[in-house]
Amino acid sequence: MALNGFCSHVLCFVRYFFDVEVNALEKKKIIVAGMGHGGLAAAALLAQAGMDVQVFEQKGEGTLGYDWTDIFDPKALGVAGIPMPPKGQYSYKENMTFYSPSMRVGLRQHVPAGQREIKMERRDIYELLLRHAAACGAHLHYEHKALAPILSGSRVVGIATDKGDFYADLVIDACGMDSPVRGNLPKFIPIEKTVAREDYITIYRAFFDRASAEPVQDPFQVILFADHICGISWIATEENHTDLLIGRFEDFDMAEVERFADFLRRDHPQLGRTIQRGGQFVRIPVRQPLSLMVWDGYAAIGDSAFMTVPLIGSGIANSLRAARYLADTVLADTAGRFDCQTLWSYERRYFHELGRGLAPLAAAKKLLLKMDSADIDYFFESGILNEDNITMTADFHSLFDLIHLSLPDLKKKGKGLCRNPAAAGKILSAVPKISAAMAISAALPATWNERTVSCWIKRYEACFR
Ligand SMILES: Cc1cc2nc3c(=O)[nH]c(=O)nc-3n(C[C@H](O)[C@H](O)[C@H](O)COP(=O)(O)OP(=O)(O)OC[C@H]3O[C@@H](n4cnc5c(N)ncnc54)[C@H](O)[C@@H]3O)c2cc1C
Repeated sequence: MALNGFCSHVLCFVRYFFDVEVNALEKKKIIVAGMGHGGLAAAALLAQAGMDVQVFEQKGEGTLGYDWTDIFDPKALGVAGIPMPPKGQYSYKENMTFYSPSMRVGLRQHVPAGQREIKMERRDIYELLLRHAAACGAHLHYEHKALAPILSGSRVVGIATDKGDFYADLVIDACGMDSPVRGNLPKFIPIEKTVAREDYITIYRAFFDRASAEPVQDPFQVILFADHICGISWIATEENHTDLLIGRFEDFDMAEVERFADFLRRDHPQLGRTIQRGGQFVRIPVRQPLSLMVWDGYAAIGDSAFMTVPLIGSGIANSLRAARYLADTVLADTAGRFDCQTLWSYERRYFHELGRGLAPLAAAKKLLLKMDSADIDYFFESGILNEDNITMTADFHSLFDLIHLSLPDLKKKGKGLCRNPAAAGKILSAVPKISAAMAISAALPATWNERTVSCWIKRYEACFR
């Protein structure tokens, strides 16, 4: 009896403190700048927990996304608590065939059924995220262009927009690669503001008509360094169109798109001349994750924190997973401090789960930039790259394995490499940086301490110089 009475007192006590803490968080205001994928997913999780979440997007309602399909790992939706889309809205991605620059060798992925990504219209992805965020209680504001962060002392306390200033306890920056919120943080905040040219890829993508109805043996072809130009291109042959993507580490124009498309038409007669959808130039970050994603009152997510897979530019799944890590961190900060000390566990979890795998890939991308088409041809033709390696490019975790397993495997592959000392020299010169990126990104400080973190940032950034 006495024990029962004691327990119920303890329960009341716990509930009292729990309610006080939940209420304290409920009063907290969150601003999400930009309707990036991770930002919308985080907005939903925080609004669902009762916080006051205001999302500001520069574009108008119904205009988000691009007029084409995207590929991503659907498991990330579950991690972020987002329901799967209706069955008719997605299909499973077919295996890709990677071609050498000379097109003499094609290596086909064989992705196991349980690991296949889904293909979905970008507009439908957005519709799913927007509907979910609104249903969870997030307030969505369109046609509000964020211009800069607002600071009080060293703390971010809001954003200036073209429609006025808005204040919050935490600003989540989901404005993408060129975020003016991140870009206009003051100099004393050691967060990188700009992106180097070699750290983003310029993409042209369009759906052309299908000029030839002849069956195509490898419907989804990815060509590396096509026409001896450093970059990646794909031609995906669908029933009624051909999807052309051209990605390069330099800017190019429509005249070059037409010249290059004509070059591809020699081997791909199915590539028509009429643009049915898309036809835009866009940019994707392909670099290591931001070394510092948080500050007092500030957290970056998605492309704003460079969460894409450096070799392939996929960022949707990583952004959705990051939304879960950020929301868990924010909700665990029951005092609502949202400063470096409490937000650091978001960055730490991101690096632990994803970043430490992405960072060595960013160092490997630097290696790719040193290669030429003859080197890549050699890797395909000598068997240094095989279908198993290519299959690993299908998802980020096994891409990490590709680097991880390739380091000890270099000895075996070395026999092939020995016959090409020039390519071997390039690879060997990159091994220390790739290994360092692996080790240092796994050694992120466990807790926030400005001095320790800034030492770590210096060591981390040195891996990519
Ligand atoms: C051509 C292309 C193809 C891609 N294909 C894939 C794919 O197949 N699979 C995949 O996983 N990833 C793909 N990605 C990458 C993916 O789109 C991003 O990594 C992912 O969406 C995460 O970026 P984000 O949502 O954070 O940023 P963004 O997609 O850049 O979204 C940022 C949002 O913020 C808004 N915004 C920007 N500035 C402001 C401002 N000043 N004020 C208010 N709002 C602002 C923008 O309008 C936009 O709505 C592709 C990207 C491109 C460009």
